[in-house]
Amino acid sequence: MNNTEYYDRLGVSKNASQDEIKKAYRKMSKKYHPDINKEAGAEQKYKEVQEAYETLSDDQKRAAYDQYGPAGASGGFGGGGFGGGFDGSGFGGFEDIFSSFFGGGGGSRNPNAPRQGDDLQYRVNLKFEEAIFGTEKEVKYNREASCRTCHGSGAKPGTSPVTCGRCHGAGVINVDTQTPLGMMRRQVTCDVCHGRGQEIKEPCQTCHGTGHEKQAHSVNVKIPAGIETGQQIRLAGQGEAGFNGGPYGDLYVVVTVQASDKFERNGSTILYNLDISFVQAALGDTVDIPTVHGDVEMMIPAGTQTGKRFRLRGKGAPQLRGSGQGDQFVTVNIVTPTKLNDGQKEALKAFAAASGESIQPGKKKGFFESIKDALEGE
Ligand code: ZN
Ligand code: ZN
Repeated sequence: MNNTEYYDRLGVSKNASQDEIKKAYRKMSKKYHPDINKEAGAEQKYKEVQEAYETLSDDQKRAAYDQYGPAGASGGFGGGGFGGGFDGSGFGGFEDIFSSFFGGGGGSRNPNAPRQGDDLQYRVNLKFEEAIFGTEKEVKYNREASCRTCHGSGAKPGTSPVTCGRCHGAGVINVDTQTPLGMMRRQVTCDVCHGRGQEIKEPCQTCHGTGHEKQAHSVNVKIPAGIETGQQIRLAGQGEAGFNGGPYGDLYVVVTVQASDKFERNGSTILYNLDISFVQAALGDTVDIPTVHGDVEMMIPAGTQTGKRFRLRGKGAPQLRGSGQGDQFVTVNIVTPTKLNDGQKEALKAFAAASGESIQPGKKKGFFESIKDALEGE
């Protein structure tokens, strides 16, 4: 399959990085933004650019699009019916982009235009194993939601907002000023409706005309297996209510994974340190090794040296973007015994003799040698 339409819309190549995509998106959406570009067809182009970016900025949707085209990107890849694709990219993509349009002071923007609500961030702590196998969490938070009394209109139930008599719904009015260069016409936000284009004669008593109210809200978040600290899941529409009929913002669930007292994890690889005796190392042994998938038997070959690393294939964490399973690495550390009983001492001396090794433990040393040892021991 060769789906390049979305890439063409942004004017980037098929292997463009997320950074390049974001940059191209900014450029194109500024170019065609209906508040900036009044040419026929600009609005359509703007929508097409939005659509392309929504897919290409999400690694999972992008991969689906590359393989299956637009149908693949929109269907079946979201998590748990929230439409929330996994998004491992850095924070602030959207806010960042929108602030350049909607951030204060932009005289050309239409204050009347629908605007998406704010994004929210929620931090969730996961146990080590939860991150490996995936889980589902209910997250509860308060958010600015559409007012239930007036359904977001801001008008008292039984009444409805009416078109603003001053600006006739435009949200802006023209002000003429005499200057030395002649008459100057400026557009300013309507002072009656404050840009909404509609006047509320009798405000809703719950939200006092804002159309928003704080509500307790909860969603179930599917945490994908293999997630790591700092990664986030975007749940579309679970942020705060929009303005002027705009959509809800998104919720970003940011994950922190707790450490394990047994294992360390690096992506899909799990690391485990195993202490063994020098007898086990010399003669070899079969030992039970804990893994997140349960204990497995591992053979230590005779003559194993300290620091030797063994691989337990497939006993690591799943790969987040793929179907593979990582490995567990077991690093062997040979522990020298610190206290020996007489029997053990005799056995070791016999071992030394059998090896033809001449050792002189506890031999009286001269004064200078003792000093040297003490210094080196520091
Ligand atoms: Zn209300
Ligand atoms: Zn008005």
